[in-house]
Amino acid sequence: MIEDARHLPRDTLIETDLAIIGAGAAGITIARELAGTNIRICLIESGGLEFEQDTQNLYRGENGGRWYFPLESARLRYFGGSTNHWGGWCRPLTPIDFEARDWIPHSGWPITRAELDPYYERAQPVTETGPFRYDATGFWEETVGAKMLPFPRGLITTTFFQYSPPTRFGTRYREVIERAANVRALLHATVTEIETNEAGSEVTGLNVSSLEGPTFRIRARRYILAAGAIENARLLLLSNRVQPAGVGNTHDLVGRYFMEHPHIPIVANMVTSRPEAFNSAYTQHLSLADTIVHAALIPTETLLRRERLQNAVFTIGVLGVYTAENLAQPAPADDRHARDVFNLLRDLGPRRETGHPPAGYNDWPPAGALGANCALGCACEQAPNPQSRVTLTEERDALGLQHARLDWRLSETDKLSLNRILHAVGEELGALGLGRVRPALSDDGNWPDEVLGGYHHMGTTRMAHSPKQGVVDANCRVHGIANLYIAGSSVFTTGGASNPTITLVALALRLTDHLRAQLS
Ligand SMILES: Cc1cc2nc3c(=O)[nH]c(=O)nc-3n(C[C@H](O)[C@H](O)[C@H](O)COP(=O)(O)OP(=O)(O)OC[C@H]3O[C@@H](n4cnc5c(N)ncnc54)[C@H](O)[C@@H]3O)c2cc1C
Repeated sequence: MIEDARHLPRDTLIETDLAIIGAGAAGITIARELAGTNIRICLIESGGLEFEQDTQNLYRGENGGRWYFPLESARLRYFGGSTNHWGGWCRPLTPIDFEARDWIPHSGWPITRAELDPYYERAQPVTETGPFRYDATGFWEETVGAKMLPFPRGLITTTFFQYSPPTRFGTRYREVIERAANVRALLHATVTEIETNEAGSEVTGLNVSSLEGPTFRIRARRYILAAGAIENARLLLLSNRVQPAGVGNTHDLVGRYFMEHPHIPIVANMVTSRPEAFNSAYTQHLSLADTIVHAALIPTETLLRRERLQNAVFTIGVLGVYTAENLAQPAPADDRHARDVFNLLRDLGPRRETGHPPAGYNDWPPAGALGANCALGCACEQAPNPQSRVTLTEERDALGLQHARLDWRLSETDKLSLNRILHAVGEELGALGLGRVRPALSDDGNWPDEVLGGYHHMGTTRMAHSPKQGVVDANCRVHGIANLYIAGSSVFTTGGASNPTITLVALALRLTDHLRAQLS
């Protein structure tokens, strides 16, 4: 059932088994999983079914660190949350991402990738992606019908992204929520405070407001905070009436360790004189095995361990294709970039193979292509950094709540690590005789100004065995609080270089199983 909280009588008290704060990817996944059970659920959503500017304004905030998107445009505040905008790129974290790596301070999840695998498998249909297969060898090589690049030095390998259609969780799963007799979804209902007992050891209720409507309370046996990684931290910090530092913040960890995936759309130019050596999965989106896939390059675990590096992923985008006809022309005199590419292709010499292999899917490479100029785009792992954090501003929103302030900080090691892996890509492609990679990154630890995020907010309520190192435990329960759980990428201990949503959906499914046993 979906109802509008603006029509509730003032000071209503709703009693339920499970209160979920936020109807985005995480909150909807949990409510949907438990739909039709005997567990009474209240799914509390700040927005309506469509975008509304007044509600979106509640997401305003400040940026205090390096440049970041304005906070009100980096996420969406209505039913379905940020999945109303997401791009659908999916790839699980890799096993090494979960490990405590002695070269990355604060790394090490309390769970392994193997423990999450069954939930990743279940997250595939939730995100409407294909089989739980991401390694290039075996399944995808067979499905694509072509070999992936055989990198000879063992530094780089191929992975696959899968693309969700992208699933708009609010639209796609609205009917299930609407029909479920045990689910009461409240729209235009903003949780303004998580209230605890004096000891701060148990949540006693939620205070909820509507922008144009009543204030009311919700009491539950268990609570899940699923409002997105910036807002999860904000709400815990705002709930400071009983515990002055905020709920779950005994060790001053809430809001710290904010991570993104630094993105650089053109981190290098790759000029190849053998475009046919890259099968079409590297250069195009292919529709295969009931999903859409794209191959990408990643460092091997061997390289990461040996050189003590952080993870990264590189995609190949074709900027231009050169034919014999193009190359017979004089080098362009007035375009330095085009001239360089042109000269490089000439330097690289004639193709080593005669004849043209059969065109791949989508006709890659185009007939007559003797060379291609490509952009390598990257997203990379940011090491957890306690100074990269979410705090509160003095300014307040329309409900009188302090805004979030984001201080996103990258470190030198993040940059140096990315640069080394980029050079490894160059070494491997050079060793294969495929072309040249020209990095657009400097060799020092300074980040270029134009680094973007990926709208991937992670780490602000990190998971750790010890309350001194993390906000939640391995079951996503807030340390020291009996009945409060957190869902979403705020619980990520490290962020790897994989887009976060499939992992947070897998974690939400795992949390659902944990709570199902307690509440049934
Ligand atoms: C432009 C864009 C592109 C993206 N592309 C990708 C991609 O390709 N791949 C990928 O993996 N990820 C991508 N993401 C990130 C992805 O959207 C998020 O990882 C995902 O939506 C997070 O799910 P969530 O449930 O934790 O939070 P959200 O989806 O943000 O949902 C949080 C919900 O909580 C509600 N809420 C907030 N505060 C309160 C409150 N106080 N009371 C009640 N309700 C509240 C909000 O209204 C919202 O509906 C992208 C994001 C954006 C913005």
